[in-house]
Amino acid sequence: MIVTTIKNKIKTMIKESKGCVLCGMVSDYEFNLLSNIQYQVTNDDRIREQISIEGGFCDFHFKQFKQIASGKTKLLLDYSLIKNILSNGQLPNINCRICSRVDEFESSAIPVVIELFMDESFRMDYAQSFGLCIPHLRRILEENNDERLADWLKQTYKNQMTKLKSILEEMMKANSYYSIGVEKRRLINLTIEKFTGRKSN
Ligand SMILES: [Zn+2]
Ligand SMILES: [Zn+2]
Repeated sequence: MIVTTIKNKIKTMIKESKGCVLCGMVSDYEFNLLSNIQYQVTNDDRIREQISIEGGFCDFHFKQFKQIASGKTKLLLDYSLIKNILSNGQLPNINCRICSRVDEFESSAIPVVIELFMDESFRMDYAQSFGLCIPHLRRILEENNDERLADWLKQTYKNQMTKLKSILEEMMKANSYYSIGVEKRRLINLTIEKFTGRKSN
């Protein structure tokens, strides 16, 4: 995806989404990739064979594949994996192609986000949001070499956490869980995702 597309998408997401925008971007990319791969597994013998040689996917991506692929697609890959194990005579080492491609995409998106933070209006929108997940914030802090931006990000993170804490406190005072609005209840899972990143979503 080109830099301008990533930038525009993140700018829109920061206003609309409550979760980590980097997780959102990566998840969209991952979902498209997975859709293409399951199509290839069904229709392209050569790619199916390559994926079998790679040992299929990691547990996380196999779980997603299981959810979106049809029974026939799964059958084709299962068969190919077993055929490969038998011809190899060894237990497979898993080298998940979805992980490699997602890591590549994520690495290319990090500097784009750092660049976006140079923009004052983006910073204002970011400060209003609940911020990035902790793994992504950590990554941004590691790759950014502007000290003032790092200080601002840490202070903003504290403000965002304080806001989240007081909303959670409000919710804890409610007489019944179901009297809490749906929007607010969503923040319970969002808090978990803040610690884990997209994989718990
Ligand atoms: Zn994230
Ligand atoms: Zn994977």
